[in-house]
Amino acid sequence: MRIGIIGTGVAGSLLAEALLEAPGISVTAYERVARGEQSEAGTGLNVGPNALKALRLHMPKRHAALRAASLEWRRWFVDLTDGTRLLDLDLLDLAEEPGMRIRWSELYRLLREPAAGCTRNGHAMEALEEDAQGRLLPVFRTADGLVRDGGFDLLVAGDGRYSRLRALTCGEPEGTLLGVCIWRLLVTDAADCPYDDYGQWFGGNARLLSFRVPGGAVYIAGTFPLGPDARIRDEMKTEAAQRALYTPEHAPPCPAVAWMLDKVGRHIDQIHWARSATAPLLRHGASGRALFLGDAAQAMVPTLGQGATQAVECAVVAAEVLKRGGTVQEIAAIRDPRVAFVRDFSLEASDTLVPGTDVVMGTRAKASPSFLAKLRRTYTEVY
Ligand SMILES: Cc1cc2nc3c(=O)[nH]c(=O)nc-3n(C[C@H](O)[C@H](O)[C@H](O)COP(=O)(O)OP(=O)(O)OC[C@H]3O[C@@H](n4cnc5c(N)ncnc54)[C@H](O)[C@@H]3O)c2cc1C
Repeated sequence: MRIGIIGTGVAGSLLAEALLEAPGISVTAYERVARGEQSEAGTGLNVGPNALKALRLHMPKRHAALRAASLEWRRWFVDLTDGTRLLDLDLLDLAEEPGMRIRWSELYRLLREPAAGCTRNGHAMEALEEDAQGRLLPVFRTADGLVRDGGFDLLVAGDGRYSRLRALTCGEPEGTLLGVCIWRLLVTDAADCPYDDYGQWFGGNARLLSFRVPGGAVYIAGTFPLGPDARIRDEMKTEAAQRALYTPEHAPPCPAVAWMLDKVGRHIDQIHWARSATAPLLRHGASGRALFLGDAAQAMVPTLGQGATQAVECAVVAAEVLKRGGTVQEIAAIRDPRVAFVRDFSLEASDTLVPGTDVVMGTRAKASPSFLAKLRRTYTEVY
């Protein structure tokens, strides 16, 4: 069976590695960026304990490599921006191992390395044709112009939220905006950072999220509600506007928030601004000859840190099913109920980001038995 993988991000590179030596399968991966180029990946992320569990069970070498290059994600605390504590969870009360905190560039480097021999870089998929035998023939834009390659029995979309393969086979998915802006910043002058593991700080429905990542750096993400037109206005992309969002009305900011606001002011021009959105879940197309994994299948809100985490689970399941000669329908039957649960739960957990919700009550409710039971399911129920 000839399998082509479009995109070597999280899902694509893990699947390529897992299929490399599978009997009866030949795999070629295509990636639009050049080898070693991580420019689209400047910041950090937290990956859930469930991704680590999936890798430990199915791809132990990758698990070990990622553990060695990351910090443990063990804690989740939530404060108000004046320092009032609302929630403090130990992930090991809910999971079988910690999650991890890692730099994006390091994650991509470690995932792409094992599949480098079967990857064609500088290949951006643009179109899709069929050969005389009815096999799929993707068309790529390269430095030398358009190139056709294939005929594949199966093409896998690992090309992320704006998947070209999904759009070409099933049409552009219509995204749903959550109505919040999410920005990210990686701070490297961070020796005096007053915190370590994963924390969140609310000022009204605006929220800062931050943690240390390896290499002495700190990742900061800010979230704030957008107006009815869901536009990120230029005047919000200023130090003064961001400072106003996260400064408490009647007290000075706590030391952690004061530190972050100082860094936001110094590095405002390096901030990456985006809008939080979901897309409808779809697992396959082209009569079962196209398989969608990760964000290509299931773009979700990043509230619980499950986007890349679920892309890992996708790759692990797809590899196991394809190696035993299974179909895309079997992959859908395993993945889709799990993904639907995690997506719905991620949306439910986003309640405190939306204007009109009581942040104190909404956050304290996250210590309730029913919320914690869902978090435990998220962190442990992997394939
Ligand atoms: C602000 C923000 C914060 C986030 N934080 C977290 C977090 O803390 N934890 C977490 O788990 N998730 C997080 N996510 C989600 C996470 O980024 C994604 O869910 C995850 O990267 C999806 O993995 P993927 O393999 O599907 O695609 P990606 O990792 O996006 O990889 C797609 C790959 O396809 C390539 N590509 C794209 N188009 C083409 C083409 N036409 N031809 C060839 N190659 C192509 C790209 O270059 C890339 O290498 C966050 C997302 C956002 C926006």
